[in-house]
Amino acid sequence: MSSLNLIGHSPSELQDLAAELGASPYRGRQLATWMYRKGVLDLDAMSDLPKEFRAALGERAGIEVPAVEVVTPSLDGSRKIVLRLADDSRISAVLMPDDDRLTLCLSTQVGCGFACAFCLTGTMGLERNLTTAEIVGQLLVANRIAAPIRVTHMVFMGMGEPLANVGPLTGAIRIFTDAKLGLGYSPRRITVSTVGLVSGIERLARANLKVNLAVSLHAASDEVRSRLMTVNTSWNLAALMAAVKRYPLQPRQRVFFEYVMLHEVNDSQDDARRLAGLLRGVRAKVNLIPFNDWAGSRFHRPPLPTILKFQSILLEAGITTTVRWSKGEDIGAACGQLKEPVPA
Ligand code: SAH
Repeated sequence: MSSLNLIGHSPSELQDLAAELGASPYRGRQLATWMYRKGVLDLDAMSDLPKEFRAALGERAGIEVPAVEVVTPSLDGSRKIVLRLADDSRISAVLMPDDDRLTLCLSTQVGCGFACAFCLTGTMGLERNLTTAEIVGQLLVANRIAAPIRVTHMVFMGMGEPLANVGPLTGAIRIFTDAKLGLGYSPRRITVSTVGLVSGIERLARANLKVNLAVSLHAASDEVRSRLMTVNTSWNLAALMAAVKRYPLQPRQRVFFEYVMLHEVNDSQDDARRLAGLLRGVRAKVNLIPFNDWAGSRFHRPPLPTILKFQSILLEAGITTTVRWSKGEDIGAACGQLKEPVPA
């Protein structure tokens, strides 16, 4: 079908479309409310839209969200949702409950072009960017699956590099955070994680969305970081930290730093002290992620005492530091494990 997909269009674009079809812009606002606020994805169910408007709209456009291929529950309560896109590519989104929170981990690309040495998703290479509609569609589908509860928080930590796809990313975030006609999420409940793409951090800062920034740091020296992450050869730690320090923070907002713990690579006490030094003067929160193993990887998770010692050095330096035990390890949904086997 080549018709226009209404999902992914901002409320103001929908108003323009209504006007183009000869209706009042108000009809576009109603349409946005139905799709985004109420999660109704069927034009015929939008009972207060005049029949003629629905018919005219139906000729020009449709409402399409990714198809749910399979939902796999994990023993820890998280659920991996594998979605099939219109061109048959597959992505996943992961629902992660935690007390009164329900966090959705979203993808922004099919595959990823950054090839971090420890990441399984990185072995796929980049296939393509997701559209705004495909990003927004993940949330709409996840909210349906989670019903009657609703996703409360979102992290862009799924497949792909969000800041290599800034336009569609910011388009989706604007729809998520539009308090009047969009989904009404507070930007403080949304976190964008980056491999350290400085140009992207600057664009995100300029977009002024007030969302949380998370940086996949993973090493406190250029020598180690360049071995793990090719991006470090374009933007080294000095360039990255300078961009992070320029990212505008709201009162009490902090930058998150992810640090995957790799045994005998980046887990020594000296590494911890170097990291504390690097983060001096930054409003930072560190998440240590014990490495999630995958077949064929050349890394190992450090023993627990090593992880706890590393954490205690950061805590003693006054840096809030948590150990994030990944969710969904048993279902291939943990950090860096999102890669679907090619369908038969
Ligand atoms: N591309 C973005 C978004 C992905 S977030 C980014 O790099 O930030 C996924 C997080 O999981 C990243 O911090 C990534 O480095 C980390 N990760 C990747 N593979 C992992 C693995 N095998 N074990 C633990 N964490 C991993």
